[in-house]
Amino acid sequence: MSRFAIIGFGCAGYNALRAIRESGSEAEVDVYSTFPHPPVNPMLTTYYVKGKIPYEAMFPYGTAEEILAKYPCNLHSGVGITALDAARRELTLTTGEKKQYDKILIATGANAVNLPVGDIPADRIFTMRTVHDAERLKEALDQRPIHSALVVGASMVGIKIIELLLERGIHAIFSDLAPHIFPTAAYEAVSERIEEYLTGKGVELHFGAKTEEAHLEDGTGVIAMSDGTTVRADIVVMCVGTRADIRWIAQDQLKMNRAIVVDPMMQTSAEGIYAAGDCCEGCDLMLGDTRNIGLYASAYVQGETAGRNMVGIPTRCEGNILHNITHFMEIDFVSFGDKNLPGDRRVLLDRDGQYIEITEQNGHLVCINMLNCYALSGVVKNCILHYFNRHMQPLNREEEGVLAKSGLPNELIQILGGMAE
Ligand SMILES: Cc1cc2nc3c(=O)[nH]c(=O)nc-3n(C[C@H](O)[C@H](O)[C@H](O)COP(=O)(O)OP(=O)(O)OC[C@H]3O[C@@H](n4cnc5c(N)ncnc54)[C@H](O)[C@@H]3O)c2cc1C
Repeated sequence: MSRFAIIGFGCAGYNALRAIRESGSEAEVDVYSTFPHPPVNPMLTTYYVKGKIPYEAMFPYGTAEEILAKYPCNLHSGVGITALDAARRELTLTTGEKKQYDKILIATGANAVNLPVGDIPADRIFTMRTVHDAERLKEALDQRPIHSALVVGASMVGIKIIELLLERGIHAIFSDLAPHIFPTAAYEAVSERIEEYLTGKGVELHFGAKTEEAHLEDGTGVIAMSDGTTVRADIVVMCVGTRADIRWIAQDQLKMNRAIVVDPMMQTSAEGIYAAGDCCEGCDLMLGDTRNIGLYASAYVQGETAGRNMVGIPTRCEGNILHNITHFMEIDFVSFGDKNLPGDRRVLLDRDGQYIEITEQNGHLVCINMLNCYALSGVVKNCILHYFNRHMQPLNREEEGVLAKSGLPNELIQILGGMAE
Protein backbone atom coordinates (compact mmCIF):
# COMPACT_ATOMS: atom_id res chain seq x y z
CA MET A 1 0.00 0.00 0.00
CA SER A 2 1.25 3.51 -0.86
CA ARG A 3 2.24 5.76 2.02
CA PHE A 4 1.57 9.49 1.75
CA ALA A 5 2.39 12.39 4.07
CA ILE A 6 0.57 15.72 4.16
CA ILE A 7 2.46 18.40 6.09
CA GLY A 8 0.11 21.13 7.28
CA PHE A 9 -3.66 20.87 7.73
CA GLY A 10 -5.05 24.17 6.50
CA CYS A 11 -7.14 24.70 3.38
CA ALA A 12 -4.52 23.19 1.03
CA GLY A 13 -3.74 20.15 3.21
CA TYR A 14 -7.41 19.40 3.88
CA ASN A 15 -8.39 19.59 0.21
CA ALA A 16 -5.52 17.31 -0.77
CA LEU A 17 -6.77 14.72 1.74
CA ARG A 18 -10.32 15.14 0.42
CA ALA A 19 -9.16 14.63 -3.19
CA ILE A 20 -7.13 11.54 -2.24
CA ARG A 21 -10.11 9.91 -0.50
CA GLU A 22 -12.68 11.01 -3.09
CA SER A 23 -10.53 9.32 -5.75
CA GLY A 24 -11.15 6.04 -3.94
CA SER A 25 -7.49 5.69 -2.94
CA GLU A 26 -6.84 3.55 0.13
CA ALA A 27 -3.29 4.82 0.56
CA GLU A 28 -2.13 5.24 4.14
CA VAL A 29 -2.06 9.00 4.76
CA ASP A 30 -0.21 10.62 7.68
CA VAL A 31 -1.27 14.24 8.24
CA TYR A 32 1.04 16.41 10.36
CA SER A 33 -0.10 19.67 11.86
CA THR A 34 1.72 21.92 14.30
CA PHE A 35 -1.66 23.25 15.47
CA PRO A 36 -3.94 21.22 17.73
CA HIS A 37 -7.21 22.25 16.04
CA PRO A 38 -8.92 21.22 12.77
CA PRO A 39 -8.30 23.20 9.53
CA VAL A 40 -9.06 26.88 10.03
CA ASN A 41 -10.05 29.54 7.52
CA PRO A 42 -7.68 32.40 8.47
CA MET A 43 -9.98 34.87 6.67
CA LEU A 44 -12.54 34.35 9.44
CA THR A 45 -10.24 35.15 12.35
CA THR A 46 -11.01 38.90 12.29
CA TYR A 47 -14.76 38.13 12.27
CA TYR A 48 -14.28 36.06 15.43
CA VAL A 49 -12.36 38.90 17.10
CA LYS A 50 -15.20 41.25 16.12
CA GLY A 51 -17.69 38.91 17.78
CA LYS A 52 -19.54 38.42 14.47
CA ILE A 53 -19.05 34.63 14.43
CA PRO A 54 -18.62 32.03 17.21
CA TYR A 55 -15.32 30.22 17.78
CA GLU A 56 -16.44 27.02 15.95
CA ALA A 57 -17.27 28.99 12.78
CA MET A 58 -13.55 29.53 12.12
CA PHE A 59 -13.31 25.82 11.20
CA PRO A 60 -15.25 25.46 7.92
CA TYR A 61 -14.67 21.72 7.53
CA GLY A 62 -15.93 20.75 10.99
CA THR A 63 -14.24 19.05 13.91
CA ALA A 64 -11.32 16.62 13.61
CA GLU A 65 -13.71 13.73 14.39
CA GLU A 66 -16.11 14.77 11.62
CA ILE A 67 -13.25 15.07 9.12
CA LEU A 68 -11.74 11.71 10.06
CA ALA A 69 -15.12 9.99 9.74
CA LYS A 70 -15.43 11.32 6.19
CA TYR A 71 -11.81 11.18 5.05
CA PRO A 72 -9.85 8.67 7.18
CA CYS A 73 -6.17 9.41 7.85
CA ASN A 74 -3.63 9.26 10.67
CA LEU A 75 -3.90 12.80 12.04
CA HIS A 76 -0.84 13.78 14.08
CA SER A 77 -2.08 16.99 15.68
CA GLY A 78 0.61 18.99 17.42
CA VAL A 79 3.39 17.13 15.54
CA GLY A 80 5.41 19.25 13.12
CA ILE A 81 8.09 18.44 10.57
CA THR A 82 11.55 19.87 11.14
CA ALA A 83 13.51 18.58 8.12
CA LEU A 84 13.09 17.10 4.65
CA ASP A 85 15.46 14.74 2.82
CA ALA A 86 14.04 15.15 -0.67
CA ALA A 87 16.05 12.39 -2.38
CA ARG A 88 14.92 9.81 0.20
CA ARG A 89 11.45 11.41 0.64
CA GLU A 90 12.16 11.28 4.34
CA LEU A 91 10.73 13.57 7.02
CA THR A 92 12.08 14.35 10.48
CA LEU A 93 9.30 14.84 13.02
CA THR A 94 9.39 17.15 16.06
CA THR A 95 9.48 13.91 18.07
CA GLY A 96 12.89 13.18 16.50
CA GLU A 97 11.51 10.21 14.56
CA LYS A 98 12.30 9.86 10.81
CA LYS A 99 9.72 8.51 8.33
CA GLN A 100 9.91 7.69 4.61
CA TYR A 101 7.00 8.11 2.18
CA ASP A 102 6.07 7.36 -1.44
CA LYS A 103 4.54 10.83 -1.91
CA ILE A 104 4.73 13.96 0.22
CA LEU A 105 2.65 17.16 0.10
CA ILE A 106 4.03 20.29 1.73
CA ALA A 107 1.10 22.55 2.69
CA THR A 108 2.59 24.52 5.57
CA GLY A 109 1.05 27.88 4.63
CA ALA A 110 2.59 31.13 5.78
CA ASN A 111 3.43 32.95 8.99
CA ALA A 112 2.55 36.54 9.80
CA VAL A 113 5.68 38.69 9.90
CA ASN A 114 6.21 40.09 13.39
CA LEU A 115 8.63 42.96 13.92
CA PRO A 116 9.73 44.39 17.26
CA VAL A 117 8.57 47.93 18.08
CA GLY A 118 11.29 49.59 20.18
CA ASP A 119 10.89 48.65 23.86
CA ILE A 120 7.15 47.90 23.67
CA PRO A 121 6.69 44.59 25.56
CA ALA A 122 5.75 41.55 23.45
CA ASP A 123 2.41 41.15 25.26
CA ARG A 124 1.28 44.41 23.66
CA ILE A 125 2.23 43.39 20.12
CA PHE A 126 -0.20 41.27 18.10
CA THR A 127 -0.37 39.60 14.68
CA MET A 128 -3.40 38.16 12.85
CA ARG A 129 -3.07 34.80 11.12
CA THR A 130 -3.79 31.87 13.39
CA VAL A 131 -6.55 30.88 15.79
CA HIS A 132 -4.12 31.62 18.62
CA ASP A 133 -3.55 35.14 17.23
CA ALA A 134 -7.31 35.71 17.10
CA GLU A 135 -7.82 34.43 20.66
CA ARG A 136 -4.99 36.63 21.96
CA LEU A 137 -6.29 39.80 20.34
CA LYS A 138 -9.92 39.13 21.29
CA GLU A 139 -8.98 38.47 24.90
CA ALA A 140 -6.92 41.68 25.05
CA LEU A 141 -9.70 43.79 23.52
CA ASP A 142 -12.37 42.20 25.75
CA GLN A 143 -10.44 42.36 29.00
CA ARG A 144 -7.91 45.19 28.94
CA PRO A 145 -8.68 48.90 28.99
CA ILE A 146 -7.55 49.69 25.44
CA HIS A 147 -8.19 53.24 24.26
CA SER A 148 -5.94 53.41 21.23
CA ALA A 149 -4.18 50.95 18.93
CA LEU A 150 -1.51 51.29 16.26
CA VAL A 151 -1.96 49.04 13.20
CA VAL A 152 1.30 48.73 11.27
CA GLY A 153 0.83 47.66 7.64
CA ALA A 154 -1.74 49.23 5.31
CA SER A 155 -2.74 45.81 4.02
CA MET A 156 -6.04 43.95 3.49
CA VAL A 157 -5.60 42.41 6.95
CA GLY A 158 -4.66 45.81 8.43
CA ILE A 159 -7.88 47.43 7.23
CA LYS A 160 -9.94 44.62 8.79
CA ILE A 161 -8.26 45.32 12.12
CA ILE A 162 -8.93 49.06 11.76
CA GLU A 163 -12.60 48.24 11.09
CA LEU A 164 -12.95 46.15 14.22
CA LEU A 165 -11.15 48.75 16.37
CA LEU A 166 -13.56 51.46 15.18
CA GLU A 167 -16.54 49.20 15.93
CA ARG A 168 -15.25 48.88 19.49
CA GLY A 169 -14.82 52.65 19.82
CA ILE A 170 -11.01 52.38 20.02
CA HIS A 171 -8.92 55.20 18.54
CA ALA A 172 -7.22 53.65 15.48
CA ILE A 173 -3.82 54.72 14.18
CA PHE A 174 -2.78 53.28 10.81
CA SER A 175 0.83 53.38 9.58
CA ASP A 176 2.90 52.03 6.72
CA LEU A 177 6.31 52.70 5.27
CA ALA A 178 4.60 53.03 1.87
CA PRO A 179 3.09 56.44 1.13
CA HIS A 180 -0.43 55.05 0.59
CA ILE A 181 -2.88 52.37 1.68
CA PHE A 182 -2.85 49.02 -0.22
CA PRO A 183 0.52 49.89 -1.78
CA THR A 184 0.70 46.76 -3.93
CA ALA A 185 -2.92 46.70 -5.13
CA ALA A 186 -4.36 50.20 -5.39
CA TYR A 187 -3.64 53.03 -7.80
CA GLU A 188 -2.77 56.28 -6.06
CA ALA A 189 -6.13 57.90 -6.84
CA VAL A 190 -7.95 54.92 -5.29
CA SER A 191 -5.72 54.95 -2.20
CA GLU A 192 -6.32 58.67 -1.74
CA ARG A 193 -10.10 58.19 -1.84
CA ILE A 194 -9.94 55.41 0.74
CA GLU A 195 -7.60 57.46 2.94
CA GLU A 196 -9.96 60.44 2.81
CA TYR A 197 -12.81 58.15 3.90
CA LEU A 198 -10.74 56.73 6.78
CA THR A 199 -9.70 60.19 7.96
CA GLY A 200 -13.39 61.13 7.97
CA LYS A 201 -14.01 58.16 10.28
CA GLY A 202 -11.40 59.48 12.71
CA VAL A 203 -8.55 57.11 11.77
CA GLU A 204 -5.13 58.71 12.33
CA LEU A 205 -2.98 57.98 9.27
CA HIS A 206 0.82 57.88 9.25
CA PHE A 207 1.78 56.66 5.79
CA GLY A 208 5.29 56.99 4.40
CA ALA A 209 6.53 56.57 7.97
CA LYS A 210 8.00 53.76 10.04
CA THR A 211 8.08 53.21 13.77
CA GLU A 212 11.36 54.22 15.39
CA GLU A 213 12.06 54.63 19.10
CA ALA A 214 9.26 53.31 21.31
CA HIS A 215 8.76 52.90 25.05
CA LEU A 216 6.03 52.58 27.68
CA GLU A 217 4.95 55.68 29.59
CA ASP A 218 2.27 55.38 32.29
CA GLY A 219 1.21 52.06 30.78
CA THR A 220 0.80 53.42 27.24
CA GLY A 221 3.14 52.92 24.29
CA VAL A 222 4.79 56.13 23.10
CA ILE A 223 6.06 55.55 19.57
CA ALA A 224 8.21 57.97 17.60
CA MET A 225 7.50 57.80 13.87
CA SER A 226 10.09 58.55 11.20
CA ASP A 227 7.92 61.46 9.94
CA GLY A 228 8.72 63.32 13.18
CA THR A 229 5.36 62.65 14.85
CA THR A 230 4.73 60.66 18.02
CA VAL A 231 1.79 58.34 18.51
CA ARG A 232 0.37 56.94 21.76
CA ALA A 233 -1.06 53.43 21.56
CA ASP A 234 -1.97 50.81 24.18
CA ILE A 235 -1.31 47.97 21.73
CA VAL A 236 0.31 47.47 18.32
CA VAL A 237 -1.10 45.09 15.68
CA MET A 238 1.44 44.03 13.04
CA CYS A 239 -0.12 43.48 9.60
CA VAL A 240 3.02 43.77 7.50
CA GLY A 241 2.51 40.64 5.43
CA THR A 242 3.31 36.96 5.56
CA ARG A 243 6.27 34.73 4.85
CA ALA A 244 5.96 31.22 3.41
CA ASP A 245 6.54 28.67 6.19
CA ILE A 246 9.47 26.89 4.52
CA ARG A 247 12.39 27.78 6.74
CA TRP A 248 12.51 24.19 8.01
CA ILE A 249 13.53 23.01 4.50
CA ALA A 250 17.25 23.21 3.66
CA GLN A 251 17.99 25.31 0.56
CA ASP A 252 19.57 22.41 -1.35
CA GLN A 253 16.53 20.14 -1.01
CA LEU A 254 13.99 21.88 -3.28
CA LYS A 255 13.90 24.77 -5.73
CA MET A 256 12.68 27.72 -3.66
CA ASN A 257 12.42 31.45 -4.21
CA ARG A 258 10.22 33.26 -1.70
CA ALA A 259 8.22 30.02 -1.62
CA ILE A 260 8.50 26.49 -3.05
CA VAL A 261 8.43 26.52 -6.85
CA VAL A 262 5.87 24.10 -8.33
CA ASP A 263 4.78 23.06 -11.83
CA PRO A 264 1.09 22.99 -12.92
CA MET A 265 0.77 19.50 -11.38
CA MET A 266 1.89 21.09 -8.07
CA GLN A 267 5.05 18.99 -8.14
CA THR A 268 8.21 20.55 -6.73
CA SER A 269 11.70 20.14 -8.19
CA ALA A 270 11.84 16.73 -6.44
CA GLU A 271 9.85 13.85 -7.88
CA GLY A 272 7.00 12.68 -5.67
CA ILE A 273 7.11 15.82 -3.52
CA TYR A 274 4.29 18.32 -4.02
CA ALA A 275 3.52 21.74 -2.53
CA ALA A 276 0.25 23.70 -2.38
CA GLY A 277 -1.21 26.83 -0.81
CA ASP A 278 0.58 29.81 0.70
CA CYS A 279 3.92 27.96 0.95
CA CYS A 280 4.24 27.54 -2.83
CA GLU A 281 4.79 29.57 -5.99
CA GLY A 282 2.49 28.49 -8.81
CA CYS A 283 2.04 30.16 -12.17
CA ASP A 284 0.99 33.82 -12.23
CA LEU A 285 -1.06 33.84 -15.44
CA MET A 286 -0.30 37.49 -16.02
CA LEU A 287 3.45 37.32 -15.43
CA GLY A 288 3.82 33.98 -17.18
CA ASP A 289 6.21 33.07 -14.35
CA THR A 290 5.86 31.64 -10.85
CA ARG A 291 4.73 33.86 -7.99
CA ASN A 292 3.43 33.28 -4.47
CA ILE A 293 -0.26 34.29 -4.56
CA GLY A 294 -1.64 33.75 -1.06
CA LEU A 295 -5.37 33.34 -1.61
CA TYR A 296 -7.85 30.90 -0.07
CA ALA A 297 -9.27 29.79 -3.43
CA SER A 298 -5.74 29.08 -4.72
CA ALA A 299 -4.96 26.96 -1.66
CA TYR A 300 -8.20 25.02 -2.27
CA VAL A 301 -7.53 24.27 -5.95
CA GLN A 302 -3.81 23.65 -5.50
CA GLY A 303 -4.42 21.24 -2.60
CA GLU A 304 -7.04 19.36 -4.61
CA THR A 305 -4.73 19.24 -7.67
CA ALA A 306 -1.81 17.91 -5.61
CA GLY A 307 -4.02 15.25 -3.99
CA ARG A 308 -5.24 14.00 -7.37
CA ASN A 309 -1.72 13.85 -8.80
CA MET A 310 -0.48 11.99 -5.71
CA VAL A 311 -2.94 9.18 -6.45
CA GLY A 312 -1.99 9.16 -10.13
CA ILE A 313 -4.88 11.11 -11.70
CA PRO A 314 -3.10 13.66 -13.94
CA THR A 315 -4.53 17.07 -13.06
CA ARG A 316 -3.28 20.57 -13.81
CA CYS A 317 -3.74 23.87 -12.04
CA GLU A 318 -2.92 26.47 -14.68
CA GLY A 319 -2.40 29.30 -12.22
CA ASN A 320 -3.97 32.43 -10.83
CA ILE A 321 -3.57 36.19 -10.90
CA LEU A 322 -3.08 38.62 -8.06
CA HIS A 323 -6.46 39.86 -6.90
CA ASN A 324 -8.25 41.30 -3.91
CA ILE A 325 -11.97 41.53 -3.40
CA THR A 326 -12.56 43.22 -0.11
CA HIS A 327 -15.34 44.99 1.72
CA PHE A 328 -14.71 47.12 4.79
CA MET A 329 -16.92 49.68 6.48
CA GLU A 330 -18.92 51.15 3.57
CA ILE A 331 -16.20 50.56 0.99
CA ASP A 332 -16.04 47.89 -1.69
CA PHE A 333 -12.59 47.54 -3.27
CA VAL A 334 -11.71 45.13 -6.05
CA SER A 335 -8.32 44.85 -7.73
CA PHE A 336 -7.03 42.43 -10.32
CA GLY A 337 -3.51 42.20 -11.65
CA ASP A 338 -0.35 44.11 -10.89
CA LYS A 339 -0.61 47.89 -10.76
CA ASN A 340 3.16 48.19 -11.28
CA LEU A 341 3.12 46.67 -14.77
CA PRO A 342 3.74 49.21 -17.53
CA GLY A 343 1.00 50.11 -20.00
CA ASP A 344 -1.63 52.66 -20.89
CA ARG A 345 -3.38 53.79 -17.69
CA ARG A 346 -6.89 55.25 -17.92
CA VAL A 347 -9.79 56.19 -15.69
CA LEU A 348 -12.97 54.60 -17.08
CA LEU A 349 -15.48 55.70 -14.46
CA ASP A 350 -15.46 58.47 -11.85
CA ARG A 351 -19.01 59.20 -10.75
CA ASP A 352 -20.91 59.36 -7.44
CA GLY A 353 -18.11 57.71 -5.45
CA GLN A 354 -17.70 54.93 -8.01
CA TYR A 355 -14.31 54.71 -9.67
CA ILE A 356 -12.66 52.37 -12.20
CA GLU A 357 -9.06 52.68 -13.38
CA ILE A 358 -7.21 50.23 -15.60
CA THR A 359 -3.83 49.53 -17.18
CA GLU A 360 -3.96 48.16 -20.70
CA GLN A 361 -0.96 46.60 -22.43
CA ASN A 362 -1.18 45.82 -26.16
CA GLY A 363 -4.96 45.53 -26.00
CA HIS A 364 -4.86 43.34 -22.88
CA LEU A 365 -6.00 44.32 -19.42
CA VAL A 366 -3.11 43.91 -16.95
CA CYS A 367 -4.61 45.69 -13.94
CA ILE A 368 -7.96 47.02 -12.82
CA ASN A 369 -9.13 48.80 -9.64
CA MET A 370 -12.84 49.17 -8.92
CA LEU A 371 -14.06 51.23 -6.01
CA ASN A 372 -17.65 51.05 -4.73
CA CYS A 373 -18.97 49.26 -7.80
CA TYR A 374 -20.98 46.84 -5.64
CA ALA A 375 -23.33 45.70 -8.35
CA LEU A 376 -20.50 45.12 -10.83
CA SER A 377 -17.90 43.40 -8.63
CA GLY A 378 -19.26 39.86 -8.91
CA VAL A 379 -19.87 39.79 -12.63
CA VAL A 380 -16.59 41.52 -13.42
CA LYS A 381 -14.71 39.15 -11.13
CA ASN A 382 -16.12 36.13 -12.94
CA CYS A 383 -15.37 37.53 -16.38
CA ILE A 384 -11.88 38.66 -15.49
CA LEU A 385 -10.98 35.33 -13.90
CA HIS A 386 -12.26 33.56 -17.01
CA TYR A 387 -10.30 35.96 -19.18
CA PHE A 388 -7.02 35.26 -17.38
CA ASN A 389 -7.64 31.55 -16.84
CA ARG A 390 -7.98 31.20 -20.59
CA HIS A 391 -4.69 33.03 -21.09
CA MET A 392 -6.44 36.30 -21.94
CA GLN A 393 -8.74 34.79 -24.55
CA PRO A 394 -11.49 37.27 -25.45
CA LEU A 395 -14.89 36.91 -23.81
CA ASN A 396 -17.58 35.13 -25.78
CA ARG A 397 -20.74 36.93 -26.91
CA GLU A 398 -22.79 35.64 -23.99
CA GLU A 399 -20.28 37.00 -21.45
CA GLU A 400 -20.15 40.32 -23.28
CA GLY A 401 -23.95 40.47 -23.08
CA VAL A 402 -23.87 39.91 -19.31
CA LEU A 403 -21.33 42.71 -18.90
CA ALA A 404 -23.27 45.09 -21.14
CA LYS A 405 -26.37 44.60 -18.98
CA SER A 406 -24.34 45.16 -15.79
CA GLY A 407 -23.64 48.80 -16.66
CA LEU A 408 -19.87 48.35 -17.00
CA PRO A 409 -18.22 51.07 -19.12
CA ASN A 410 -18.31 50.09 -22.78
CA GLU A 411 -14.59 50.61 -23.21
CA LEU A 412 -13.82 47.98 -20.58
CA ILE A 413 -16.24 45.51 -22.15
CA GLN A 414 -14.47 46.05 -25.45
CA ILE A 415 -11.05 45.36 -23.92
CA LEU A 416 -12.31 42.22 -22.21
CA GLY A 417 -14.00 41.24 -25.45
CA GLY A 418 -10.70 41.54 -27.28
CA MET A 419 -12.10 44.25 -29.62
CA ALA A 420 -9.38 46.70 -28.78
CA GLU A 421 -6.86 44.80 -30.90
C1 LIG B 1 -6.89 37.90 8.39
C2 LIG B 1 -6.76 37.23 7.05
C3 LIG B 1 -7.62 37.58 6.02
C4 LIG B 1 -7.54 36.95 4.78
N1 LIG B 1 -8.41 37.32 3.81
C5 LIG B 1 -8.40 36.67 2.63
C6 LIG B 1 -9.36 37.00 1.62
O1 LIG B 1 -10.20 37.90 1.79
N2 LIG B 1 -9.35 36.28 0.46
C7 LIG B 1 -8.44 35.27 0.25
O2 LIG B 1 -8.48 34.62 -0.80
N3 LIG B 1 -7.50 34.96 1.18
C8 LIG B 1 -7.45 35.63 2.35
N4 LIG B 1 -6.52 35.30 3.30
C9 LIG B 1 -5.46 34.31 2.96
C10 LIG B 1 -5.97 32.86 3.08
O3 LIG B 1 -6.54 32.67 4.34
C11 LIG B 1 -4.78 31.91 2.85
O4 LIG B 1 -4.30 32.14 1.53
C12 LIG B 1 -5.14 30.42 2.96
O5 LIG B 1 -5.83 30.16 4.15
C13 LIG B 1 -3.86 29.56 2.90
O6 LIG B 1 -4.13 28.22 3.20
P1 LIG B 1 -2.94 27.17 3.41
O7 LIG B 1 -3.57 25.84 3.60
O8 LIG B 1 -1.93 27.32 2.35
O9 LIG B 1 -2.18 27.64 4.74
P2 LIG B 1 -2.62 27.70 6.32
O10 LIG B 1 -4.08 27.92 6.47
O11 LIG B 1 -1.68 28.68 6.90
O12 LIG B 1 -2.29 26.23 6.83
C14 LIG B 1 -0.98 25.76 7.00
C15 LIG B 1 -0.95 24.76 8.14
O13 LIG B 1 0.34 24.16 8.17
C16 LIG B 1 0.75 23.95 9.51
N5 LIG B 1 2.22 23.89 9.55
C17 LIG B 1 3.09 24.90 9.33
N6 LIG B 1 4.36 24.46 9.42
C18 LIG B 1 4.29 23.15 9.70
C19 LIG B 1 5.27 22.12 9.91
N7 LIG B 1 6.58 22.37 9.80
N8 LIG B 1 4.85 20.88 10.20
C20 LIG B 1 3.52 20.60 10.27
N9 LIG B 1 2.56 21.52 10.08
C21 LIG B 1 2.94 22.78 9.79
C22 LIG B 1 0.18 25.16 10.23
O14 LIG B 1 -0.01 24.83 11.58
C23 LIG B 1 -1.15 25.39 9.51
O15 LIG B 1 -2.20 24.74 10.16
C24 LIG B 1 -6.56 35.93 4.55
C25 LIG B 1 -5.68 35.57 5.59
C26 LIG B 1 -5.77 36.22 6.82
C27 LIG B 1 -4.83 35.82 7.92
